[in-house]
Amino acid sequence: MKVTEYFKEEGKTHISFEVLPPLKGGSMKAIFDTLDPLMEFKPPFVDVTYHREEYIYKKRPSGYYEKTAIRKRPGTVGICASIMHRYKIDAVPHLICGGFTKEDTENALIDLNFLGIQNVLALRGDARKFDGRFIAEDGGHEYAIDLVKQIDGMNKGNYLDTYIVDGSKTDFCIGVAGYPEKHFECPNFDLDLEYLKAKIDAGADYIVTQMFFDNEKYFQFVDKCRAIGIDVPIVPGLKPITKKGQLRSLPRLFYVNLPLPLIKELEKNKDDKEAFREVGIEWCIQQSKELKAKGAPCLHYYTMGDTKTIKKICSEVF
Ligand code: FAD
Repeated sequence: MKVTEYFKEEGKTHISFEVLPPLKGGSMKAIFDTLDPLMEFKPPFVDVTYHREEYIYKKRPSGYYEKTAIRKRPGTVGICASIMHRYKIDAVPHLICGGFTKEDTENALIDLNFLGIQNVLALRGDARKFDGRFIAEDGGHEYAIDLVKQIDGMNKGNYLDTYIVDGSKTDFCIGVAGYPEKHFECPNFDLDLEYLKAKIDAGADYIVTQMFFDNEKYFQFVDKCRAIGIDVPIVPGLKPITKKGQLRSLPRLFYVNLPLPLIKELEKNKDDKEAFREVGIEWCIQQSKELKAKGAPCLHYYTMGDTKTIKKICSEVF
């Protein structure tokens, strides 16, 4: 079923989870161990992230370093198929521009379609670690909007090979990313919103937000989206802070602000791991309760493999 169909249920706040493929060499057990305990909350869908190749430097016997590109977390599509098979729910693969030519994308979409996957989260992807800025593949897409257009085109039966006439139409529901605190590369918040609107106008059906820790940021974001004519569901993304290092790493990696009262409360407990974790969990519970009370269509939890924490939060909220 399409993700947006679930959101049509009046007055209902759904719950969804996002999982990462295990590091290469890992097994599906890691995914099932994460998801099995969360199934009691009846998520209608689970997202599976996509990770492009990364550069690593290997030391050669001569002492020189060799730059090699490897994919550390492959398996997104296989994991989606396994999730659908085991839990009989929808799985939403993330599909990125980075590392894909348009033809790679077309072929990936054909695979997804044949597997019965009806939803895709269309993203640009980040720059590779040593590239400094996002570099599209030769013959690939520069921005997520171009990926949205390609998927929307296939939904209309348009393939890259123009000799294909009467091509079978896919029927993907397309999600895109939104940033309540602005995407870090964009020089201006309103401009970022215009680009977001362009993704919706190009055929995207819903938005999932970057994590945020101040609900006001989400509410203002939704208001601004509505004011410029973005009328699709906007799903808040949530991540509890549970470890001391995240006080610095989450802002650095995800370009998000932490509210001062949260920082102060966490700092007070920084020498007591369990108390620190409790503060982060309680904050996320309060965020979740307010978002639910104010009618968010779905709460999307970035699990990052921490089932225990996410389960505790969901038990309090749902
Ligand atoms: P875009 O919408 O293309 O925007 C990228 C930047 O370009 C923005 O600054 C935007 O303002 C600007 N822009 C857009 N259009 C134009 C234009 N026409 N001209 C000039 N500038 C423009 N990354 C992964 O690698 N794998 C994942 O699985 C993954 N999952 C994610 C899930 C969610 C919910 C979110 C919020 C992010 C996820 N990411 C993932 C990270 C994401 O790929 C990065 O944030 C990336 O830097 C931007 O992706 P985007 O799709 O928002 O890009």
